[in-house]
Amino acid sequence: MSYKHQYIDGTPIHFPLGKVVCVGRNYAEHAAELNNPLPTEPLLFIKPGSCTVSPVGGFSIPQGRGVVHFEAEIAVLIGKPLSKKPSEEEVLDAISGFAPALDLTLRDVQAKLKEKGLPWELAKSFDGAYVLGAFTSRDAVADVRDIGIRLSIGDDVRQDGNSRDMLYPIIGLIQHIAGHFSLQPGDVISTGTPAGVGPLNSGDQLKVELLGLTAFEAEVL
Ligand code: ZN
Repeated sequence: MSYKHQYIDGTPIHFPLGKVVCVGRNYAEHAAELNNPLPTEPLLFIKPGSCTVSPVGGFSIPQGRGVVHFEAEIAVLIGKPLSKKPSEEEVLDAISGFAPALDLTLRDVQAKLKEKGLPWELAKSFDGAYVLGAFTSRDAVADVRDIGIRLSIGDDVRQDGNSRDMLYPIIGLIQHIAGHFSLQPGDVISTGTPAGVGPLNSGDQLKVELLGLTAFEAEVL
């Protein structure tokens, strides 16, 4: 289903869909499960807005290109321009909301690209590679350093993390990103995935939750 930014009550958010700035290895246990070293600064990559889809009605995954992994992530919607080195207050003020998201990854393709030292777009930026739920407003979140993120397949909890365990917590992370390139209203920051990633199969029933805030359910078509 085509995607437009909206709040959980269905109110449209009138920002264009921008880029999705993603963070790799932002939780130590996840870096370890893929045998990756811990980064010494945030590992960033960008998904184009064009790969974003809504979970409503289910979503499809690529066929014949190897394993597709789920990565549940806390998505942050940027609502004001940020550039240079914004203060913590400026970053907080620029956040419009938080949503559960899936950073889908062609893991076999990515492994080959990593081996050759090549960029990851073929593994990360295919159509449908970012599944983004509705946003809860920033004001609904008492503490950005304490947001629970959970992914279940059926009744089986597969990922259960919290923003407090991020190697690069949300506000400092966005300061760092804006220090390298400008963020615009409608851009999304995907803040990395906790441990527990794994393969998706057609027919899987997923639930991705920001605990106590918002959730989406979707079937893999
Ligand atoms: Zn990710």
